[in-house]
Amino acid sequence: MSRRRPVYLDHQATTPLDPRVLQAMLPWLMGEFGNAASLQHAYGWAAESAVNAAREEIAEALGAAPREVVFTSGATESNNLAILGFARAARRTGAHVVTSAVEHRAVLDPCRALSAEGFEVTLVPPDREGRVSPESVEAALTDRTILVSVMAANNEVGALNPIGRIAALCAERGLAFHTDAAQAFGKVPFGVGGGVALASLSAHKLYGPKGVGALFVRSRPRVPLAPILHGGGHERGLRSGTLNVPGIVGFAAAVRIARREREAEAERLGRLRDRLETAIRASLDGVTSNGPPSGPDRLPGNLSLSFAGVDGSRLVSSLRGVAVSSGSACTTASGEPSHVLRALGLPEPLAKATLRFGVGRFTSEGQVDEAAAEVVAVVRRLRSENESLRD
Ligand SMILES: *Cc1c(COP(=O)(O)O)cnc(C)c1O
Repeated sequence: MSRRRPVYLDHQATTPLDPRVLQAMLPWLMGEFGNAASLQHAYGWAAESAVNAAREEIAEALGAAPREVVFTSGATESNNLAILGFARAARRTGAHVVTSAVEHRAVLDPCRALSAEGFEVTLVPPDREGRVSPESVEAALTDRTILVSVMAANNEVGALNPIGRIAALCAERGLAFHTDAAQAFGKVPFGVGGGVALASLSAHKLYGPKGVGALFVRSRPRVPLAPILHGGGHERGLRSGTLNVPGIVGFAAAVRIARREREAEAERLGRLRDRLETAIRASLDGVTSNGPPSGPDRLPGNLSLSFAGVDGSRLVSSLRGVAVSSGSACTTASGEPSHVLRALGLPEPLAKATLRFGVGRFTSEGQVDEAAAEVVAVVRRLRSENESLRD
C-alpha cells in the first residue's frame, strides 16, 4: 500500500504543468525537433516560426514589441542578465544600484556580485506588510544611481508592490527600472507600460514548463545590456544558446490560458486562501498572518502564517500530509530564518515557525480542508509537548 502524496500547497515554489500546455508542447518534443537557428531547411523554419508566434503572444500579453522579449532559462537567469548585464553596460554613468531587502535570492545575489565588482548596493526596507514604497526608493537614490530593481509580487508574503509608481519615478530621473515579475505575471494585471525598462518572467510559476523564462528589454529608449552568455549570438546577441523550442511553445500556451482565466482564477484562489486561513484560525490561538490582508494588495492564493509557541524546525518535519514551505524556505540547509520575514520585523523564532501556503489552479476545497485539519492537529500536538516539557 502506498502512502497518499501530500496535498500540494506550495504554488509559489512551482506550479504543475497544465495538461493543455503539455498538449501544445508535445509536437515540439517529438517530430518537430528542429533548431530554431537552422534556417537552411524546413525543420529549422518550423521551429523558428513556432518561436516567433510564441514571442508575439508573450509580447502582446506584456504590452511589449516582440523584439523586446528575450528567451532565457527562467527568472533566475533573467534577473542575472538584467542586473549584471545592465550594470556592466552602464557602468560609465554611475555605480549605485537600489533594490529591496525582500527580493528573491536571484536578485539579491547578483547585486552582491556587483558589490564585489565595486558597485554600491542599497537595500530598501519594506513596510510592515512587506511592501516597498516609492518614497523609500526615492530616499535611497543618489546622483550615482543607475538601476532600481523591485519585485512586482513577493514570493513569500504575497505583497504586491506599486511598481507603476516606482517605474514612473525612475523614468522621470532617467534611471533604469527592473522588476522581477516571476510571481506577478499571469496572476495579477502586469504590463511593461509606463517606464519599466527590464522585467523577468518564468514559465513554471504559471503552469508552464520549468527551465524557460524571458527577460523584457525595452528597445525605445534602448536599454543597454552586456550579455552574460557568449556563443552563437542568439536572441539578438543578448542570450546565446539553442532555444528551448518546446519550452517556449509551452510558455506561450501557459500565458494564453492565464490571459483568459486569470481573473476568474484569482477570485477562486482568493476564496480558497481565505477558507484555509479561516479554518486554521477558528481552531488555533496565537496565529499571525504576514503580508498584506487578502484582497487587491495581495498575490491571489498566497497565505503566510506564523505560529507562536511552536519550534519551527519541528513544525515542517511533522507536517506529513501537506507540502508547504517553511520560514526558512530558500536556505533550508543553513536553517536560517527567511530574510523576508526578518525584514518584516518578525523575531527569529517566530520567523522559523512560519508556513507559506500557496493554493493553485488544481487545488480543491476538500484539499484545503484536509490541509487545515492537519496543520491544526500538528500545531496543537507540538504546543502540548512544549507544555509537558515545562511541567
Ligand atoms: C521562482 C522565482 C524566481 C526564480 O525563477 P526560476 O525560473 O525558477 O529561475 C525568481 N524570482 C521570484 C520572485 C520567484 O518567485
